[in-house]
Amino acid sequence: MSELLVVGSTAYDTIITPAERREYIIGGSAAFGAYAASFFTKTRLCGAVGSDWGPERTQIFTDRGIGVDDLKIHADEKTFFWEGEYFLETNTRRTLQTQLNVLTKFSPDLCDASRASSFVFLANISPVLQMQALRQCENVKLAVADTMNFYITNERDALLELMTMVDGLVLNDEEAEMLTEKKDLFSAGDQLLSMGPKFVIIKKGSHGCVFFAKDEIFSLPAFPTRDVIEPTGAGDCFAGAMMGYLASRDATDYAAIKKAVAYGTVTASFVVEDFSFDALRRIERAEIDARFEAYRSMLEI
Ligand code: AMP
Repeated sequence: MSELLVVGSTAYDTIITPAERREYIIGGSAAFGAYAASFFTKTRLCGAVGSDWGPERTQIFTDRGIGVDDLKIHADEKTFFWEGEYFLETNTRRTLQTQLNVLTKFSPDLCDASRASSFVFLANISPVLQMQALRQCENVKLAVADTMNFYITNERDALLELMTMVDGLVLNDEEAEMLTEKKDLFSAGDQLLSMGPKFVIIKKGSHGCVFFAKDEIFSLPAFPTRDVIEPTGAGDCFAGAMMGYLASRDATDYAAIKKAVAYGTVTASFVVEDFSFDALRRIERAEIDARFEAYRSMLEI
C-alpha cells in the first residue's frame, strides 16, 4: 500500500440549490479529494486555511486518519471562499463569488512524509502552486492534476507547463472545450493528450466520464442515483477516490486505472446525496464496495 498526497483548496462554500441555501459549509477541492481518498489509503492533505477555521474543522479530517501536517493556518488571513448556484433543469452551475483569501499567500512547503509520497493528486488550486508542490516530491510514481475554468482563464501558461509534468489530467467537458477550443469530446481528448499527460479523463457530470490514453479509450456511466441533493465536490471525490484506490494497490497499469475510475465514479455518487461531506461522513468503506458490486453487475453485458 502506498500513501497519497492531495494538494488543493480547503474552503468555506456558500451553496444555492433550487431547494435550499447553505452558508459557510466546508468544501474545497483537496478537502473533498482527501476525504474520499481516505476510504482507500493513508492520505495527506496539503493546503491553507485562515483564522476562521476552527480545530473542529480539521478534526473532520484527522478523524479519518488524514495527515494534516501540511494544512497551514495563516492567522492573519481568511479561508478561501467560494459561492455557487445550481440550476437543476439545465444541469449547470454558476460561480457567484471566488475569494482566494489565504491562497494568495500560500506557498506549499511539504513535510518529509509528504515529499516521499509516490502518488500525488493535485486538486484545484493555482497551477503555480500545483507545480511547486509536485517539484518537492522526489519519488512520484503517478501524478494526476485537476483543473477548472478559473485557472484556464487566469493562469493558462502555468497550466500548460503543469500539463507537461503530470501523468494524468482530470477536467470536465466544458473545461476541456475551453482549454482546447474543440467542441467535440474526442478531438478535445486527443488534443489534451498531445499537450503532455499520458492520460486524460473528461468528466461529464451525471453522464459519467471518458478516459483517453494513446492506445486506449473507455467510457463509464455515472452510478445511477435518484437522490441528488447537491453535487459540489463530486469531481474532487471522483479523482480523490480514484487516486486513493491506485495508491492502495500501488498500481499504475491500465487495468488498475480502469477499476480506479469505477471506484471514483461510485464514491462520487455518495457525495451528491447531501451538502458538503455529510453523506460521506455517514458511510463506511463497505458501503462503497457494495455499491461498486452493484455498479459492476449493472455493467455486465
Ligand atoms: P467540484 O464540485 O468537484 O468542481 O469542486 C467544488 C469545490 O471546489 C468547492 O468546494 C470549492 O470550494 C472549490 N473551488 C471552487 N473554485 C475554486 C478555485 N478557483 N480554486 C480552488 N478550489 C475551488
